[in-house]
Amino acid sequence: MSRIAIAGAGIIGAACATWLAGQGHKVTIYEPDPDGLPASAGNAALIALPEIAPLASPGVFKAVPGWLLDPLGPLTIRWPDLPALAPWLVAFLASATPGHGRRARAALAQLMQTALEDHRALLAIAGLDDYLQQSGYLALHDTPTSLASGLEEAEAVRKLLGHDYQRLDPAGARRLVPQLEGAFGGAVHLPGYWKVTNPLTVLRRYQAALRQRADFVTGKVVAIEQRSDGVAIRTAAGETALFDKIVVASGVWSRELVRGLGLRVLLETERGYNTTYSDLDWTLPMPLGFADHGFIASPLIDGLRVGGAVELAKPDTPANFGRAKAMRTKMRRYVPALPEGGKEWMGRRPSTPDSLPVIGTHPKDERIVFAFGHGHLGLTLSAVTARRVADLIAGKAPADNPFSLARFQR
Ligand SMILES: Cc1cc2nc3c(=O)[nH]c(=O)nc-3n(C[C@H](O)[C@H](O)[C@H](O)COP(=O)(O)OP(=O)(O)OC[C@H]3O[C@@H](n4cnc5c(N)ncnc54)[C@H](O)[C@@H]3O)c2cc1C
Repeated sequence: MSRIAIAGAGIIGAACATWLAGQGHKVTIYEPDPDGLPASAGNAALIALPEIAPLASPGVFKAVPGWLLDPLGPLTIRWPDLPALAPWLVAFLASATPGHGRRARAALAQLMQTALEDHRALLAIAGLDDYLQQSGYLALHDTPTSLASGLEEAEAVRKLLGHDYQRLDPAGARRLVPQLEGAFGGAVHLPGYWKVTNPLTVLRRYQAALRQRADFVTGKVVAIEQRSDGVAIRTAAGETALFDKIVVASGVWSRELVRGLGLRVLLETERGYNTTYSDLDWTLPMPLGFADHGFIASPLIDGLRVGGAVELAKPDTPANFGRAKAMRTKMRRYVPALPEGGKEWMGRRPSTPDSLPVIGTHPKDERIVFAFGHGHLGLTLSAVTARRVADLIAGKAPADNPFSLARFQR
């Protein structure tokens, strides 16, 4: 068994640490902000098994210019951050080809095939109560064109992964979700979605279980040193510890550790905003997606969460909570009962330009494993990532790995 360090206790690091500790490895997990609320704490709670469409697609060339004109719309850029974001954006646009789209879908479908059963396995390893529930998902479309593209996507997913779907007119959608009093064109019902009770609860439970089975160190990893006798972690406090293997799972902050190793990566934040209501006397029977506006409303076990959208910005650029308000306002067009109030939050999706996570070893040093860049799907893919990381640690690397960091090296 190996001594393994994990940098980061978000859902990806926590899942990897759980899986590896379950296999009997001696695991040490480093987290600078154990009470923090990273992306893993405040997301929409969906186990989005049918979501395999990369963000970069030929359609973005038509849609993006219009979106960018609206600073509160589904996708925006914080313009002063443009120089820092430029290399990522160039690669993003270069990925928006049909060929890349097909490869990305096939790669994500591979992960989705076992994502749910891996969550069940992870639950069993951690000895946690079941937090999974099949919820389904209702995607609302304003126009016939939008509905047609939603149905086309659902059909493509059905062919690849077998998830059924159903086209609904507004009356049919209202039978499923009676709160939908406003106008819309139609809907696609996708029963293949699951959700967790509340992502913060799930994260804290994994972290608590890890405190029993691993060393949980409050500390920021600032450097990884490749030595002949092992790989060493150096923390911001100046401490150094030696391990056999290291897993980098620090969300968007992984990029500093990767660059410190002399490697290249394109990793930026697609920031999302949401509002969580914990005091409503009603909730939605299933998650709702506002397909033309890039956000969703998700019922948690203890509240209702409304949010999403994408803001490309540097991680530390101040938040613009006007975006959370804009989504609440838009939602009222469909669900007029939504009140003001609620608690606002901003989270940083760690995103690659090709919408594929990085799950692979250092190209020249198999002792270092990377697990980050899960973008919109980190909760969904956390358990399958953990299983794959455990395989990499065991020396079982796939012959052809579409998630390798090698794709960024030139
Ligand atoms: C609005 C929104 C809604 C979303 N909805 C969904 C959804 O419904 N379903 C889904 O699957 N995904 C969803 N996501 C995406 C998902 O939340 C992320 O992909 C996922 O949380 C990323 O997890 P992570 O562990 O890689 O990163 P993070 O959650 O960012 O965690 C990284 C951790 O690493 C720590 N860290 C940072 N630097 C260091 C360092 N140097 N050393 C050690 N540790 C470090 C940080 O403190 C942090 O705790 C959503 C995201 C947002 C923003």
